[in-house]
Amino acid sequence: MGVYYAATALEGQLCRNETVVVAGSGNSAGQAAMFLSDGAAKVLLVVRGNNMKMSDYLSHRVQARDNIEILCNTEIRKMSGEKKLKEIELESTKTGERRVVRTPAVFSMIGAKPCTDWLLPEIERDAKGFIKTGISVAGAPAWQGNKHQPGPLETSLPGIFAAGDVRSGSVKRCAAAVGEGGMAIAGIQMRLAGAS
Ligand SMILES: Cc1cc2nc3c(=O)[nH]c(=O)nc-3n(C[C@H](O)[C@H](O)[C@H](O)COP(=O)(O)OP(=O)(O)OC[C@H]3O[C@@H](n4cnc5c(N)ncnc54)[C@H](O)[C@@H]3O)c2cc1C
Repeated sequence: MGVYYAATALEGQLCRNETVVVAGSGNSAGQAAMFLSDGAAKVLLVVRGNNMKMSDYLSHRVQARDNIEILCNTEIRKMSGEKKLKEIELESTKTGERRVVRTPAVFSMIGAKPCTDWLLPEIERDAKGFIKTGISVAGAPAWQGNKHQPGPLETSLPGIFAAGDVRSGSVKRCAAAVGEGGMAIAGIQMRLAGAS
C-alpha cells in the first residue's frame, strides 16, 4: 500500500517518474536511493541523524546524484492516503519546520538497533546492545564452576542462546541468521542431552 522494505526492479517500476522517499542512512538506504533514482523523478533520503552512516564510496555517489535530496535531522511524522499512500509529513528536528510531500512510496531501510533492553541484566550485551555469546562470556558469573564452556551461540546464562542479527558480532544478513538459528538448535539439543 505504498510502504516497502526492499527496492527491487518491481518497486522501481511502481514509482517511475514519481517522488519517492527512502528512510534510513545505512548502506541499504544508500543502495535503495541510488537504484530508485534511475527511474524516479526525485528521491528524498530522510536521515534521522546529523549525517549518513553508509560507506564512503556510496555516500559520495548518493551526494553526487542530481535527483537525490538528502534531508538530515529529519523524521517522518505522518503518512496519509486512502487505499494507498498519498502523502507524508516530514519534520526537521532542528527547526521544527514541517513539509508535506506527495509520494506513492516510502522505502523503510531502517532497523539496525537491537531491542534488547527488556532482557535480564545477567544476559550480557555489548556497548550497542547486541547479545554477547561464546568465548566472550566465558568469564560471566553464571559460567563459573560450570563443567562446560559456553557454546559459540550461548549467552552469559548457560542454556540461553542468541542467533542472528541480535547476536554481537554476527554477520547481519539473512543467510547468516538462518544458519545461526540452525546452529542454536543443535546447541540446545546438545545441552539438553547433557553433552559438551
Ligand atoms: C532495510 C534492510 C535491508 C536489508 N537487506 C538485506 C538483504 O538484501 N540481504 C540480506 O541478506 N539481508 C538484508 N538485511 C538484513 C536481514 O534482514 C537480517 O540480517 C535478517 O532479517 C536477520 O534475521 P533475524 O531472524 O536475526 O532477525 P529479524 O529478521 O529482525 O527477526 C527478529 C524477530 O524478532 C521479533 N522480536 C523482537 N523482539 C521480540 C520480543 N521481545 N518478543 C518476540 N519477538 C520479538 C521481531 O519482531 C522480528 O520479527 C536487511 C536489513 C534491513 C534492515
